[in-house]
Amino acid sequence: MSPVPSPPPSSTPTPDPGPILVCEGLGRRYGQVKALDGLNLSLAAGEILALLGPSGCGKTTTLRLIAGLETPDGGRIEIAGREVAGPAGSLPPERRRVGMVFQHYALFPHLSAAANVAFGLPRRWPRAAREARVAEMLGLVGLAALGHRMPHELSGGQQQRVALARALAPEPALLLLDEPFSNLDARMRMTVREEVRDILVRAGSTAIFVTHDQEEALFVGDRIAILNGGRLEQLGTPEVVYQQPRTHFVAEFMGHGSFLPARVVPGGLETELGLLRQASDRPPGSRVELLLRPNQLMLQPVAAAEAGARVQRRSFQGMHQRYQIRLASGRLLDCLAPHDLRLDPGSPVRVTIVADQPLACFDDGGAQPPSSTGAPTAPGARK
Ligand code: ATP
Repeated sequence: MSPVPSPPPSSTPTPDPGPILVCEGLGRRYGQVKALDGLNLSLAAGEILALLGPSGCGKTTTLRLIAGLETPDGGRIEIAGREVAGPAGSLPPERRRVGMVFQHYALFPHLSAAANVAFGLPRRWPRAAREARVAEMLGLVGLAALGHRMPHELSGGQQQRVALARALAPEPALLLLDEPFSNLDARMRMTVREEVRDILVRAGSTAIFVTHDQEEALFVGDRIAILNGGRLEQLGTPEVVYQQPRTHFVAEFMGHGSFLPARVVPGGLETELGLLRQASDRPPGSRVELLLRPNQLMLQPVAAAEAGARVQRRSFQGMHQRYQIRLASGRLLDCLAPHDLRLDPGSPVRVTIVADQPLACFDDGGAQPPSSTGAPTAPGARK
């Protein structure tokens, strides 16, 4: 008997569930202060967005508007295909299918970890279903054996995981996390953020994660939205916002870097470090500034005679050395070097640009052309 051929793969594509969150022209004023000014944002199912910006830029206001704790005075919000705020009115927080995790874990001190998780579940659920869900959630966050403990018997990181389990238990369409690690010390913060990201990915959650820590945003976000003064400066993948910032503000806010003046010439860009073969859409003769991240520069010790640049300062950072280099013009550049390249201040060096992609290029204090905007990633692209 010949084997039964397996059926051909279905040609019916899986229906696109559509975006989980859409914000259009979202605005909120407090008196004269525009806390949020025309925010447009769309989040795909399973996507984790890091919302980043300096103090007062509107991060918490954005979360509060999405959660329904504030009413926008302009624009609209859609969650899982349903308008929850807009010209037609507003749904109350409990009807928005949004879960929240705050920086203060906000656990009930008189309830055990398990009872805290159960608290968020609908009262109408039968007892067995509630217990099963609580066990599932505690298992998800790695605390299956600690459900009986009271909050004060748990570490800060464990308490935050209970808070996460509680927020995830009712299966929210969207999870909002407001600086969830700011209560933890630096070491624990790194561990807990990895755990939390893993949990969110395993649970398939769509989430917005507020932080003012650039490194945290780069680690946690599938995409990063950078707010400044209530306006969205850039929305893109971590790689794009770091390497191709659209504005000086984003370039400076996203981490260490130096700006190097350059002039557009027929063969590329002429700089103090030599000719950079990079195409430019500006006419020859234009003066621009290039953004150099510390990892885009290579240092080599050289004989004093040929040196135009010298080490100004060195700081050992464990896995690498961080150098500040003074060029012949007096301009200072930040460079990273391997941990075993130890050069004393005053040492002559050669500095070479080693970027594997075009450097971000700015007019004097201006913005990059829009072509550098980060395109949305497919959800889970980094998972
Ligand atoms: P942080 O990182 O310091 O928490 P943030 O980015 O979350 O800041 P928001 O709390 O959203 O910023 O505040 C945005 C702006 O709106 C700030 O200028 C703030 O002072 C103002 N603001 C926020 N809430 C109110 C309020 N209830 N009344 C008046 N002004 C407010």
